[in-house]
Amino acid sequence: MDLIPHLIDGRETESRSAARFPTVDPWTREPWAEVALGGAEEADAAVTAARRAFDEGPWPRMGFAERGAILHRLADLIDEHRDELALADTTDMGKPIADSTAKDVPRSALNFRFFADHARLSAGDALPMDSGHHAYSRFEAAGVVAAIAPWNFPLMLETWKIAPALAWGNTVVLKPAEDTPASAAILARLALAAGMPPGVLNVVNGFGPDSAGAALTADPRVDRITFTGESGTGRTIARAAAAHLTPVSLELGGKGANLVFADADLASAVDWSIKAIYSNAGQVCLAGSRLYVQREVYAEFLARFTAAAEALVIGDPKDRATQLGPLASEEHYRKVRSYLEGVQADGGTIATGGLGDGWTVRPTVITDAPPTARVCQEEIFGPVVVITPFDTEAEAVAAANGTPYGLNAMVFTENLSRAHRVAAALKAGTVWANCFFVRDLRAPFGGVGDSGVGREGGNFSREFFTEPKAVVMAITPADT
Ligand code: NAD
Repeated sequence: MDLIPHLIDGRETESRSAARFPTVDPWTREPWAEVALGGAEEADAAVTAARRAFDEGPWPRMGFAERGAILHRLADLIDEHRDELALADTTDMGKPIADSTAKDVPRSALNFRFFADHARLSAGDALPMDSGHHAYSRFEAAGVVAAIAPWNFPLMLETWKIAPALAWGNTVVLKPAEDTPASAAILARLALAAGMPPGVLNVVNGFGPDSAGAALTADPRVDRITFTGESGTGRTIARAAAAHLTPVSLELGGKGANLVFADADLASAVDWSIKAIYSNAGQVCLAGSRLYVQREVYAEFLARFTAAAEALVIGDPKDRATQLGPLASEEHYRKVRSYLEGVQADGGTIATGGLGDGWTVRPTVITDAPPTARVCQEEIFGPVVVITPFDTEAEAVAAANGTPYGLNAMVFTENLSRAHRVAAALKAGTVWANCFFVRDLRAPFGGVGDSGVGREGGNFSREFFTEPKAVVMAITPADT
């Protein structure tokens, strides 16, 4: 079986103990590769390498154009290795190959292009003053960044962190999720091929608690921690970071509300709502997992939505026709199954869907669930939506805001004023009106409440990955 190594200081390596763990293909339910199992020792070595590359190496001292050229080369290499990278994510976590090829990998390349250019074009501000002074800001690299990633969009979310961190001159230690280490190992190889100096990007594989993840968050030589994952893990990481006052960015879970008003274009609302909950088998932090539909169109919407859900193709994620693969791991499958098993006791009804073969779950619709039901409050992270009717706009907004989460929400209406009104009233980091998942990388991205702390994207990433500095100069009057 292939070995997925760490990358530390420009070298692919095993752990000194030679410990390994298997990574499992969730479709075959068999291990398909072995992974070097890192712990405190490997995390320490990676931070040492990143620290040296930052303190002594050329990377933070290069001009934006020179660094940017390397990042653009890396983006080109990602495009050239698109099929290999897509297959790695699909094999590791069961994402349909059509999605990893057409969405995840191209977006990962875009992350590098966008942030390379963004950093060069926003490297500082001039602030002319009235008082005989001139001020300007500098955005200086923060130092060593620990990036801890989840398994649901492996390459795409890793590059969402790594690209801005590197573009601003930081060095990085990445810990991929234990279920999805394969694409990061390819990325690390491509980074070296693109001309990135050793130690600038390091990858350590391993688990979270008592393993490489926890060791990274406890290391005082780390200057920033950027984390995407579950809200509970986010709390643990925030506590660890507090010991050294290390700034953290936490992109956490969600329970996205999706409001469909009677005046919406129903065909389009059904189409987007299906994508919002069943893409990536619902393993999306931004999933529209709570659908609220105005009563006048509820029955028609439910009939159309259910028919569309039942028509989705479940199968081998390596088959280009597949729209839903298996869930990413047995542990995760068991979690989703436990929610389905509890629906009836909570007062809900499974209108369609349920468990499929292996670790697949069929596109599932739950109706009649009271707002307090677990399926209405907790993130299931599977292809499971709860659909509930509402009467008034105020009622819909209150229901949407009725969970501890606040990552994103959607509103479908043809009434312009309502779209803006509702967007303003929703407790969420992102609101989509008549669409879903459309992103501008300049826009703030992050969550409210249990969905996270901080924002990334464009200038928001700049704030996080740099130490902004103000320089104020006195301008002496000319001799007269
Ligand atoms: P997770 O919290 O279990 O793990 C995420 C990462 O944290 C993994 O690399 C894991 O090894 C590491 N980790 C776990 N415990 C740790 C610890 N004590 N110290 C350091 N590292 C630790 O999350 P997951 O199951 O991989 O991902 C799914 C979750 O991520 C969902 O809740 C989803 O909503 C969320 N998510 C959020 C966003 C967002 O942008 N807001 C995007 C994608 C996923």
